[in-house]
Amino acid sequence: MADFKIPKATAKRLPLYYRYLNFLHNAGKEKVSSTVLSEAVKVDSATIRRDFSYFGALGKRGYGYDVDSLLAFFAKTLNQDHLTNVALIGVGNLGHALLNYNFRQTNSVRISAAFDVNPDITGTIQSGVPIYPMDELETQLKDQQIDIVILTVPTQAAQDITDRLTKAGVHGILNFTPLRISVPDTVRVQNVDLVNELQTLIYFIDHYSNRPKEEAKQ
Ligand code: ATP
Repeated sequence: MADFKIPKATAKRLPLYYRYLNFLHNAGKEKVSSTVLSEAVKVDSATIRRDFSYFGALGKRGYGYDVDSLLAFFAKTLNQDHLTNVALIGVGNLGHALLNYNFRQTNSVRISAAFDVNPDITGTIQSGVPIYPMDELETQLKDQQIDIVILTVPTQAAQDITDRLTKAGVHGILNFTPLRISVPDTVRVQNVDLVNELQTLIYFIDHYSNRPKEEAKQ
């Protein structure tokens, strides 16, 4: 069922839909129209209808979509029905915050191992997650069958670690470093550059805001 290809842009919206449908389900709602969904997730209803059309006969126009069957479909497609263990490398400020956060709002993903070079923290448990030294990286990933890694190391360490991860058979890297790491086709990278995101936001507010300049400066 989850084996067919859907466009990347659609795939990116699935978690949004999934979260809202869960909310509806918990509120006891059985049906939802694309218009209501559109207002809630801020995606236009034509896009929602097109996205949902990739999932086949799930939607009936005029009747709305059946919340439970959509939810079951998304849970399968998003692998929400099984737990994915991920590792985190670099338990500094950001890494520590992520360990603490640990994606508690979902039952389907959690950080189960962390790695660092700092001997003060290796061998300890932080926020319930064991911190291993880097020389245990390959064996732990293999033993714990982890193939997704969150990278929160200093920029200068990012590429060497990426090369090790690639050799170890990792398939996905969530890269929080500003470096655009190089990987072969077998590895998928998602970049999260928080500084860049914030600066882009500030740039847009400064240059394209509708507010009068004087007010914007205050
Ligand atoms: P952050 O950038 O998250 O705010 P920070 O400023 O506390 O963190 P950084 O110097 O960026 O510290 O390092 C982040 C973490 O990565 C630290 O815990 C550090 O010990 C660890 N680290 C540094 N080099 C490596 C490496 N080669 N392999 C694994 N971990 C590393």
